[in-house]
Amino acid sequence: MASIFSRIVTGEIPSAKVYEDEHTLAFMDINPASRGHTLIICKEEYPGLLDVPPRLVEAVARTTQRVARAIMTTLQPDGLNIVQNNGAAAGQVVFHYHIHIVPRWKGDQVSPFSRQGKADPQELQELATMIGNNMH
Ligand code: AMP
Repeated sequence: MASIFSRIVTGEIPSAKVYEDEHTLAFMDINPASRGHTLIICKEEYPGLLDVPPRLVEAVARTTQRVARAIMTTLQPDGLNIVQNNGAAAGQVVFHYHIHIVPRWKGDQVSPFSRQGKADPQELQELATMIGNNMH
């Protein structure tokens, strides 16, 4: 069965999309660790880092860097955590290769591994549009 992220790629499940190209898709995490928490996925479904062909690891890394720059411009955080979980023991919940970008502000007490609860979909769409408009 297709992963929840594959169903986002096909449009079967809605998402707040930031950016899309041939091999990668970036969208807002519905259950963010901080404001602006964004996921970058490989459109083709592979469970984790160890399974992905290197050319697609590279494609995801390139998109991650571009989205990270756009988040810095848009939200002006003091830093970013880049997180990538492999295996249930490491906290992976969706077994479809993806990278988390978690914006951080000084003194925010955020853990990039914890979640703040479901975000307002309209707010996620606004963030996605703002970040997407700053993609270069
Ligand atoms: P991981 O623990 O690395 O597998 O992270 C999976 C992430 O996917 C979690 O942060 C979830 O909040 C997020 N997530 C799950 N379903 C959706 C969805 N439909 N749209 C956006 N993010 C999702």
